[in-house]
Amino acid sequence: NRRKITSTEEFVTQILAGNIPFLSRAITLVESTNPKHQEQANEILEACLPHANKSVRIGITGVPGVGKSTFIESFGKHLTSLGKKVAVLAVDPSSSVHKGSILGDKTRMEELVTDENAFIRPSPSGTSLGGVAQKTRESIILCEAAGFDTIIIETVGVGQSETAVHSMTDFFLLLKLAGAGDELQGIKRGIIEMADAIVINKADSGNEKNAKIAKVEFNRALHLYPPKESGWQPKVLLASALHHQGVDAIYTMIDEYMNLVKKSGYFQQKRNEQNNYWLLETINQQLKNNFYNNPKIKERLQQEVTKLENGKTTPFTAAKRLLENN
Ligand code: GDP
Repeated sequence: NRRKITSTEEFVTQILAGNIPFLSRAITLVESTNPKHQEQANEILEACLPHANKSVRIGITGVPGVGKSTFIESFGKHLTSLGKKVAVLAVDPSSSVHKGSILGDKTRMEELVTDENAFIRPSPSGTSLGGVAQKTRESIILCEAAGFDTIIIETVGVGQSETAVHSMTDFFLLLKLAGAGDELQGIKRGIIEMADAIVINKADSGNEKNAKIAKVEFNRALHLYPPKESGWQPKVLLASALHHQGVDAIYTMIDEYMNLVKKSGYFQQKRNEQNNYWLLETINQQLKNNFYNNPKIKERLQQEVTKLENGKTTPFTAAKRLLENN
């Protein structure tokens, strides 16, 4: 009752032909913790790499309820109506097999999921952000090789996941709601700094005036930051994802951005920087894992902790000893 094993060549041929079931299975290999699966996933990735890199990668973040899935559905439908092929991936480190992932949940994008030019994949599960992000980054390569020219990466606006998504995308979009004039409260400085555009969603049903006020405030806030290396001045736009308003203007803006950065060379520079970042990030992760998973270290770490508790050593000396004898 052994399952037939699909060869790497077969995977690559099928992915390059745009075969979605094979793309899904390859992503499953990428996400697997089984060393055999990982080995094959790496082979597939390297073979797909020359066919990747040709898409625009858009990061989208915002707090729960801001309208991310509604927006991605409306935006995604707009893109497919323009003849684009759209893949939606997600980075949600909090999702686990037991809790079920929230982001990229297909039931939340009912129309897009039935669109043959769209591919939606929920967040890989995992406890570490680094692990989840790495898998998503590798999935981008597979989606691009399968012919998807627009990759949307969704993440929730809490914690460190925005930085990870920012480090794997070309354009970073922050979704916000208009409130009662305290728009800037509660958003981390770093997130505004990362944004290439802020979209104020739900600018409908009597909320238009507030949305316009918020737009002025955000524009003012954005001007407080030093100019971006890309040469791009971040924009604030209004949208109603629910009523499909303002969505086309957002795509036009992203297109404008892509033209600018491709002409200036910043596009390739940023992608190179991102590759370097992930190289170092992966090494860091691996070194840490090797260290902490080493049974000898585990035991000696416990001994050092006991010594620390008894006032027999300092954290620095203990760390030095553990690292040197590693
Ligand atoms: P997410 O948690 O950020 O993915 O948000 P959802 O897309 O699930 O949207 C949360 C709620 O806001 C849902 O009830 C949507 O129908 C509603 N919603 C999303 N976009 C809009 C919009 O543009 N206008 C209005 N009025 N409601 C919206």
